[in-house]
Amino acid sequence: MKKVPTKIGQREVVRFLIADGSISHKVTIWGDFATAVSSDYYKPDLEQPVICIMTNTKIGVFMDHVQVGTLPSTRVFFNLDVEPVIEFRNRLIEIGYKSPGGSADVAMNSAPVLEHVSFASLIANSESMVAKETVLSTFTVSRIEEEDDFWFHSCTACQAEVLRTERKFKCETCNRSFPYADKRFRILVLADDKTHACNVLLMDRIVKQILGTTVTNMLNEMKKAPATSSVSEMYKKIIGKEISAKIILTEGNKNGDSNIYEAVELFDKTVNDSSSGDKSPETNPNTFSSSGIVQGIELFHTPGSAGSVSKKIKTEDDIVHIG
Ligand SMILES: [Zn+2]
Repeated sequence: MKKVPTKIGQREVVRFLIADGSISHKVTIWGDFATAVSSDYYKPDLEQPVICIMTNTKIGVFMDHVQVGTLPSTRVFFNLDVEPVIEFRNRLIEIGYKSPGGSADVAMNSAPVLEHVSFASLIANSESMVAKETVLSTFTVSRIEEEDDFWFHSCTACQAEVLRTERKFKCETCNRSFPYADKRFRILVLADDKTHACNVLLMDRIVKQILGTTVTNMLNEMKKAPATSSVSEMYKKIIGKEISAKIILTEGNKNGDSNIYEAVELFDKTVNDSSSGDKSPETNPNTFSSSGIVQGIELFHTPGSAGSVSKKIKTEDDIVHIG
């Protein structure tokens, strides 16, 4: 995978060949989908030759060569665990199939930016994570650890937790006080990825992606109908869910002091698609439909940096008025 300049800035692109022994076709995938596909491919135990199944693709011809591109509904499966895939691989091995790209690294250009890792290897190999900022992890939520504590007051400048003092919110990171604060989700869960059970903090963006709602909206629901437990309804949507998430590694994670991991963003297309667009504009594909860019890329796009969140336009609802 590599980054290339485009009209809308640097974008990830992954290019590879699919072949059946006689014909090969070029595949090009862009954006976060490229990162996800690349991470899937670089799982350490991926058996060779790798059988790739692509669904709902866009076939084009460029310079007399067939090109495979993506649509919003495109899925890519490497070594899907079904009988025909195993049979096909066995047949290729029997006929002495050789990958036309030589080694995988040649075909995929370079190592992925985002590596798919297990909790067990995160814990055992924390020193190998020092150079990494984020990793990709897939886990199931076993339970909510702190049921009473699902949100916090956050600094509008740096997103750190702020202390409520008299009439103001004090941010120790920025060393200044603000008249108002953001309300952000932060839910501590027990997460299991079959290699290890770990505590994971589901941060604001990922909770919004899963639930399609905001803290402000949740608190409003709770105020409107205190009898019905909106909070336990919310937890029901999270417990038992399998989540593929981008994990930001903290200093504590890297030096081995902390095994609480911060999940910041979903990598699960199906959840993205089913989330309620009107309540959570960040995951609404319609937001991007007018941008003139191939939809398949933009479905996976969420405004990237943490900084962009604090720059969003505040509505009345988002602001806590004091005094
Ligand atoms: Zn701050």
